[in-house]
Amino acid sequence: MPRTLITGGAGFLGSHLCDRLLAEGHEVVCMDNLITGSVDNIAHHFKNERFLFVKHDVTNYIMVEGPIDYVLHFASPASPVDYLEHPIPTLKVGSLGTHNTLGLAMKKRARYLLASTSEVYGDPLIHPQREDYWGNVNPIGPRGVYDEAKRFGEAMVMAYHRHHGLDTRIVRIFNTYGPRMRLHDGRVVPNFIHQAFTGQPLTVYGDGTQTRSFCYVSDLIEGIHRLLLSDHVEPVNIGNPAEMTIIDFARAILRFTGSKSEIRHEPLPVDDPQTRQPDISLARQVLDGWEPKVGLEEGIQRTVEHFQRTKQIPSAAE
Ligand code: UDP
Repeated sequence: MPRTLITGGAGFLGSHLCDRLLAEGHEVVCMDNLITGSVDNIAHHFKNERFLFVKHDVTNYIMVEGPIDYVLHFASPASPVDYLEHPIPTLKVGSLGTHNTLGLAMKKRARYLLASTSEVYGDPLIHPQREDYWGNVNPIGPRGVYDEAKRFGEAMVMAYHRHHGLDTRIVRIFNTYGPRMRLHDGRVVPNFIHQAFTGQPLTVYGDGTQTRSFCYVSDLIEGIHRLLLSDHVEPVNIGNPAEMTIIDFARAILRFTGSKSEIRHEPLPVDDPQTRQPDISLARQVLDGWEPKVGLEEGIQRTVEHFQRTKQIPSAAE
């Protein structure tokens, strides 16, 4: 039975990975300092003997007893609002946290997987983004704390791979949504759903012509699981290439939910990328034909149901 450490395991993606790897028969050590993660996301595993939760900040030295076969480093604030609120922990978890988790993987002779991000491409000048594009990042802007920490993390992982021969993987995650996102994490999907269900205006930042490509969480987790088992060391984009403008996304949310909310424009955040769409040719090729399967309407429906089930939004849109 493989034994796996998931940092950020109580977060949105980390907790879905805990579910998946437990289902695959792993023993899971879930580590989180709970700045943005929540025990609500993992409480359903507390009685499982193959699951252990450790509250720890991975920017400090990490001690795990016993063998570890896989280390998945998913700890980090990941919403722009969160990393603006926690700029220094964001820089530290992407740099010191990556260093500490790599050190642990060395010691345990484990395979290592880094959760990287489409933010390494910054406000991209190449469209769609392929893995061989080096990006257009403002290092000193407010988003730089996340983007540069993840870029540093990727550099660190490749150095451990080349210099120490560590068995490593890097996934570049594009916008992902689904159950267990925090309703108030500030990202566009939970914001629009919350606004649509409470009769508030949908807040479109800027003129809404900026684009994003939204991937449902189960498609992302499937891709990450395949990457973990693949032998591809260089970064791989995982996301859904179905690109849309934010204004069209707002209209789609109104249509899917039947909400009568208006659309209100608010200022565009500094350094907000104008376009984003993953080129997933590499993923298709190295992950055994992987591709996203859940369309936007179905994914939004499942996400809405989660927020309703957990009583975070009313059962019908206003
Ligand atoms: N956005 C918006 N209204 C909101 C929240 C976000 O128009 O209430 C926009 C934001 O400016 C960005 C896009 O939606 O262009 C996606 O933002 P999000 O915070 O979800 O993630 P990002 O892709 O920027 O990391």
